[in-house]
Amino acid sequence: MALLSLFVSCNDVKKDQFKVWAWLSGRTTMSEEQLEQYFSEAARVGIDAIILECHGGRPEVIGDSASFRDDAAIIILENAVVYAKKYGIELHAWMWTTNRVELSLRKAHPEWYQVNAQGKSCADIKLYNREHYRFLCPTRPEVTEYLKDRVREIAQVEGLTGIHMDFIRYPDAILPYGLHESRGVVQDKVYPLWDFCYCDECRAAFKEQTGVDPMDIEDPTSDQAWMQFRYDRMSEMASEIAREIKACGKVASAAVFASPYESRKLVRQDWPNFRNLDYIFPMIYHKFYDVEDEWVELATREGVEALRAAGNEAVLCSGLFVGHVPAERIEEFIGYTENGGSDGICFFSMEGMLSREGYTDSLKRAVEAIRLSD
Ligand SMILES: [Zn+2]
Repeated sequence: MALLSLFVSCNDVKKDQFKVWAWLSGRTTMSEEQLEQYFSEAARVGIDAIILECHGGRPEVIGDSASFRDDAAIIILENAVVYAKKYGIELHAWMWTTNRVELSLRKAHPEWYQVNAQGKSCADIKLYNREHYRFLCPTRPEVTEYLKDRVREIAQVEGLTGIHMDFIRYPDAILPYGLHESRGVVQDKVYPLWDFCYCDECRAAFKEQTGVDPMDIEDPTSDQAWMQFRYDRMSEMASEIAREIKACGKVASAAVFASPYESRKLVRQDWPNFRNLDYIFPMIYHKFYDVEDEWVELATREGVEALRAAGNEAVLCSGLFVGHVPAERIEEFIGYTENGGSDGICFFSMEGMLSREGYTDSLKRAVEAIRLSD
């Protein structure tokens, strides 16, 4: 254990300064010119770490389409790690976790997917009219084993610093409030269509524990035992995958919803109880929550305090949405996160910054100012 911690702290060479991260989406078809541009620009601006999406909502298939091995993820990471090394940037592999759309898996194990309170599997229905909303059930040990296998595969990429879990949650029981109108949903409360997981395994496990079949619960949201059951299953899965990431010698991190309260309410994600993580990135994309800018500071503080109260030593790093943070106010927003107790900042996304004229120049100035004052 001591050896492992030593390894992780050596990996994490920039922990003492205000750390700047960015999420970047990846494809096997990214050209050398694109990679050169992203990583050289990150280095110029003062970004310390790139979280590169290697398995997302449209996984590429390389080789045998019936195989579970994620060859595309490995190619994406191997191509990028050359540039990460060249520019001294940490590379973290970003993988979607419970939300898995690979056809090989959907064909082989449709029973692993979550079921809603109407008894419908998200393997069969297009939730929110999205092809990529296919969530695995955290109660099934074989699901966790499958995901640990994927972790071990990508951990073999030499030079990779960490592995980052995204979508480590249930489907949105309620979408963030600012998205209801554009998605055409009315969600003044939780409706059965969006309430998961009522699969056979979950129903049996909960019944064994309490004597109650969750299908018979009249108001599932106000039933504390049923809510807690679902929080706990997801926390256990997240903690176990994070342990595997660490066992592979990698920095473990996860992207989560904006604040502990909203995370539990919207997606049954009790992330202060996700264990074994080095970093937790609450995605404080505040305009999706219909709130004022200052909420970034409140949500950050709520997260930091909840981690502390849970005895969780993960470092909190606030995530900001580039489209919600005007270039000329970057320093102000970083200030909100610092005041709330964040140990760094992560921008979604690298490509979003580069598509806006002058954005990275503003970020560079803000980062220099903050590091001077540290
Ligand atoms: Zn289930």
